[in-house]
Amino acid sequence: MTFPPLREELRGLAPYGAPQLSLEQAPVQLNTNENPYGPSEACVADIAAAAAEAARGLNRYPDREHVALREGLADYLSRDVADGQDPITPEQVWAANGSNEVMLQLLQAFGGPGRTVVSFAPTYSMYPEYARDTHSRFVAGRRAEDFTLDVDAALELVRTERPSLVLLPSPNNPTGTALEPEVVGVLCEALGDDGLLVVDEAYGEFRRTGTPSAIELLPSYPNLVVTRTMSKAFAGAGLRLGYLAADPRICDAIRVVRLPYHLSAVSQAVALAALRHHEELLGKVDELRHERDETVAWLRGRGLDVADSDANFALFGTFPDRHAVWQRLLDQGVLVREVGPEGWLRVSIGTPEEMTAFREALDAVLDESGSK
Ligand SMILES: *Cc1c(COP(=O)(O)O)cnc(C)c1O
Repeated sequence: MTFPPLREELRGLAPYGAPQLSLEQAPVQLNTNENPYGPSEACVADIAAAAAEAARGLNRYPDREHVALREGLADYLSRDVADGQDPITPEQVWAANGSNEVMLQLLQAFGGPGRTVVSFAPTYSMYPEYARDTHSRFVAGRRAEDFTLDVDAALELVRTERPSLVLLPSPNNPTGTALEPEVVGVLCEALGDDGLLVVDEAYGEFRRTGTPSAIELLPSYPNLVVTRTMSKAFAGAGLRLGYLAADPRICDAIRVVRLPYHLSAVSQAVALAALRHHEELLGKVDELRHERDETVAWLRGRGLDVADSDANFALFGTFPDRHAVWQRLLDQGVLVREVGPEGWLRVSIGTPEEMTAFREALDAVLDESGSK
């Protein structure tokens, strides 16, 4: 056996991750869908005070059930309930270190050997990795040509594969496509007691006005799980805090597989402090949406194909050699993401200045290649 004695199926695999370059190497970073606006000094001071208070008790283990944080998150999520729907309760909420950890815990509890996880490509590239890491079988259906979900094809796949989990981001990454609300109900009913539908709303706050969150459907479907994160719209990617809303029995089941004290006292305190500033932290969402629509229109004006986006990024293409385009943008200091179907690139929406730099750099690439 070659050293180290790694699991056979993991040999030679590269760890997941977008290239992480310094600001010197790439001054315009538009590759991981972060919110480009940092917190105000008032918010920083409040977070620092909360961290200091947590530090006074660091000799003790943190609250395993992170009750105060779940209360704060339940209040926050209750903004998205329908008229007449009960508010979200803390028992319906569960949090972990990023929604990636929430998702892994869901697969640890509900996936596993002999069980199947279904998603629809192109989609978030971490899903197959959670499946691999939990020894779950992964089946990828396909999205339609315009990246929407074909409900009949999705239903067919659910009926033949009988998955324990269906993972559907809305808006989808890397395409930006939002899910038609009817799809959620149809799939939840098809899954019944045997499977969970996980709607990954990492970009939920960017959805168009009038598009409901799947949070509204929680009272109708006990097998529906909605995941969220503080990493994107909430401008807290460095915080590592993700969460879900679901039937309390689902939250209870996750407690069996979570590591003891998985959320540090500092994470809990800092996340709660950030939640108190949610209006400020989400304050730039409208501007980012506007910038997104401008970017999409500009790209189309340059003759490119762009997927309709409800998120803070746009998938554009297609290029015979996308890596060359990616590299030429980077040569000019603009880092985008080489992800998604062959020929496409994804750009995150930054500040107006960053988007100007992106447009200028892409203009140069398109002009020099003489294409479009
Ligand atoms: C960015 C992203 C997440 C967020 O991951 P965190 O671990 O919360 O930072 C989750 N799902 C999708 C589809 C994403 O693009």
